[in-house]
Formats: sequence, structure tokens, C-alpha cells
Amino acid sequence: MIYFDHAATTPVLPQAADAAFRVMTRDFGNPSSLHALGREAAREVEEHRAAVAGALGCRPDEVYFTSCGTEGDNWAVRLAVYLGRHKGKHIITTAVEHAAVLEPCRWLEQQGYSVTYLTPDHTGRVPAEAVEAALREDTVLVSMMLVNNETGAVQPVGEVSKLLKRRKSAALLHTDAVQGFLKVPFTPDALGADLLTLSAHKIGGMKGSGALYIRNGLRAEPLLRGGGQEKGLRSGTEATPQIAAFAAAAEIGAAAREKNIAYLNDLKAYALESLQAGVPGLAVVSPGDAPHICAVSLPGRPSQVVVRYLSDKGFCLSSGSACHRGKASHVYGAMNLSKTVRDGMLRISFAPSNTREEVDALVRAMAAATQDLVSAGRSYR
Ligand code: PLP
Repeated sequence: MIYFDHAATTPVLPQAADAAFRVMTRDFGNPSSLHALGREAAREVEEHRAAVAGALGCRPDEVYFTSCGTEGDNWAVRLAVYLGRHKGKHIITTAVEHAAVLEPCRWLEQQGYSVTYLTPDHTGRVPAEAVEAALREDTVLVSMMLVNNETGAVQPVGEVSKLLKRRKSAALLHTDAVQGFLKVPFTPDALGADLLTLSAHKIGGMKGSGALYIRNGLRAEPLLRGGGQEKGLRSGTEATPQIAAFAAAAEIGAAAREKNIAYLNDLKAYALESLQAGVPGLAVVSPGDAPHICAVSLPGRPSQVVVRYLSDKGFCLSSGSACHRGKASHVYGAMNLSKTVRDGMLRISFAPSNTREEVDALVRAMAAATQDLVSAGRSYR
């Protein structure tokens, strides 16, 4: 299979798998145990925290390991509203966030919070001015993702942090940087984020593993109470194999960050040019500001039919976020696209392992798809 779905998940890097294997079989101690194996495990967790912090550009004690990006997003939203509980009950977010932010916000609406969901323009971007216009005295949280997982649009998180300061807002700023980590250059400080979410399986680490950055000085509340791991904020025996793999992937990704970004930008530009030249009727809906994601449409060819057709020809790409599982994408829905364009949306997402030859093969297969799936709505198989 030729894999163009790296925004959904990535293969685990061999070095990350090796690191996890070693921790599962040799350095398998419980970091809370007092004996040598336990102490070694605890030492390694801190070494891995420092590695993730180094790749992110923050202090190690600002990194809290979680079980996934979804957990980090839920924790961030919950923490921000808890810390702001005496200040107000208004949240600003965008209509194109991942469900891991949108669903906690919807739940909070049921608890009496008011949530403003900012809509993007036709490219998927939400301007900072829209945040400023929505800002209220009682706003306690602005949650804006750094890179959208379905369009590759980069949102102006740094600008938003500046405007919050300028307006002397007490609102905390959370950014879901799951798709931005190692793909666009940033540090939490440069963005001005108070809370920032990462997920390991988007960068060559394991599924079921992530981290939440909590800015130094923020008085955090525990997500899970229990044995007191993660400085008492997220109890539960540390997932040492996942953490080891996350650290290895983060270190490798950070060392090659600039080279990878340049390669991905070049490969995506080549892909967009080749697709436009070689696939009749194809529309580029979002070229993607981030180097690894773009969104195109084959208007009149339902994307789920095209995805299955291409899968049978040996290609993996998606009709939007993997989490939708065939449901219409709320991101493309929010972008004010015509129904035919929206129904034909395809997300192509790259990794440095992809090549121009693979892109050429995809262009040929997509051109064949437009021939084979001639009539709109015709089912395939
Ligand atoms: N946020 C974004 C932008 C994502 O793309 C994803 C994964 O698809 C998540 C959050 C959730 O991460 P995880 O799969 O680790 O829960």
C-alpha cells in the first residue's frame, strides 16, 4: 500500500519501537517502586520528558504525559474553565477544532457555559480579528488549534495571544498542536500558549500516548486523582513504553525538523501541481499552510466511493478526519463550500517517507478514478 494518510496516524519509527521494546522487556520497572529497577524506570521517564520538552521548546516540568491527544484536549478545556470559575462562563473556540475540543465544549454548554464557535473562511482559516470581536469580559478560555487536521490550515494562535494580552483578558489560551508538532516551527512561549496538546502517534510514536504542556506558574488541578504520578496531576502508573517511544520519535523528528519541513513543502507543491495537471476536474480546496496536509475535491465523485476505489488500487488516503468514519466532516461543512465540492473532498497527508514516484502513481490512479466513476453518486462495488 502507498500511504498518504499520515494525519490519521503514522507508522511507529523503528527507533521508537526499539525504545518501547527495551522498556517493555528490560527496563520494565514501575517508576514508583523503590528498588533499582523502579528507580531506573523513574530516571528514564524524566529523561524522556526532557527529550519531549527539548523537541517542543519548553521546560521539562511543563510536560505532563497523557494517554492521547484527546485526553490532553479534554484536560486543557476542563482545567481552563476550573481556573476561570470565578471569572466567567464564556469560551471561544473554532468550528473546525477536533472533536476532542468540540465535545467538551458542547458538554459545558449543557452545564450553563456559553461557547462561541468561530467559523473559518473558505480556506479553513479563522482570523484573529474574529477572536477579538467575540472576546468578552467573562471569557475564560480561547481554544484554537495550531494546524487543522483536515485542511492543513495554520491558525493565528500567536496573534490571538498578543490580542489577549493587549485586551488584558484573563482568558487562558489553549492550542491543540497535535498536527503542528514538528511540522511547523513554534514553541509554546513564542505562541503565548498556556496549554498545548500533543499526540505521539502523529509523529512516529505509539497510539495511546500524548502530552499536555501546562505553562509554568499555572496552578493546575489534577485530571486523575490517585497515586500522585505526574506531580500529582495525572495519577496512574506511567505508560513507560509509550513514553519511551514518544521521546525517541520526538528527538528524531526534532533533529530533522527543518529538513523534513523543506522536503514536505516541496513534495506537496509537486503533488498539487501534478494532481491539477493530471486529474480532470480536480479542485484544490486547501493547499494547506502546514507542509504535510492538503485537501482537494473531485466534484461529483463522492469521496467515500473514491477512497474505497483508491484503496482497492493500493492507496490510503481519506475523506477527512479518520474520526468521522464516513460521517460528513464538520470542518468541510463549516467552510461554506458547494455541496458537490464538499461531497468530493479528499485529504492527502504526507510524511518524509513519501516520494515523487508515489505521487505520480496516485495521480494516475485518481485520473483513472475520474474515468471509472463517471456518473455522480454511482456506487463502486
Ligand atoms: N487533535 C487533532 C488535531 C488530531 O488530529 C487528533 C487525532 O486525530 C487528536 C486531537 C486526537 O489525538 P489522539 O488520537 O491521540 O486522541
